[in-house]
Amino acid sequence: MTPAIGKRVHMEPQTIHREDIVRWINDFAQVVAVNRDHLTELDAAIGDGDHGVNMDRGFRAVAAKLPSVGDKDIAQILKTTGMTLVSTVGGASGPLYGAFFLQEALSSAGKEELSLTDWIAMLEAALNGIIARGKAAIGDKTMLDALAPALQALKDAAIRNATLAEALTQSADAAQDGMQATIPLVARKGRASYLGERSAGHIDPGAASMYLLLKTAASTLASG
Ligand code: ADP
Ligand code: MG
Repeated sequence: MTPAIGKRVHMEPQTIHREDIVRWINDFAQVVAVNRDHLTELDAAIGDGDHGVNMDRGFRAVAAKLPSVGDKDIAQILKTTGMTLVSTVGGASGPLYGAFFLQEALSSAGKEELSLTDWIAMLEAALNGIIARGKAAIGDKTMLDALAPALQALKDAAIRNATLAEALTQSADAAQDGMQATIPLVARKGRASYLGERSAGHIDPGAASMYLLLKTAASTLASG
């Protein structure tokens, strides 16, 4: 039976599968390559100018590794991503993004597909993993300041019974707002904190890469 046209909106994918996770990470590797110089310029303003280079090195290594785990489950794919980042990225962002993916792996253990609720639990675990690793608080002008509002937006969307696509889009928008909101902040963690008050007036590079990661999740995962 052909579904009525008006029902098409309900046929959007409401779950995320293993192949979607692989696409998300591969797509992000390309986004990082395209934005490498932009991220590095942001880091040149308040850090040591290597964030784009660090992220590109790490995600190139991840993209090279993914074919070997393409048939493994979601948790294995995320774990390999996290371990590869930890071992290839020298800067602060390597262990922190490593923690993000390793905690997502633990949170998704044994799952064949992910619902919006699962995705929220994974991002919450990722946020807590970054906090456990880097000891930063929200408002310290770090990647957390893009991730935390994105997580909140996902929770709000779930309460409103939003579709997966809507929720992911709203979380990307919140991450973008959070990234912009790092501009006036004074950095209290990482290299930018060495600048003290002079770190104000610039976007935090890690918040910018985190926004790109969540924006890529919206564009890749919402399209199914
Ligand atoms: P490095 O600072 O070692 O040069 P990167 O330039 O790759 O590493 O990454 C810098 C980004 O890492 C910052 O913009 C910030 O978002 C993030 N960051 C640094 N320290 C912390 C921390 N303790 N907790 C969370 N994020 C942090
Ligand atoms: Mg740096």
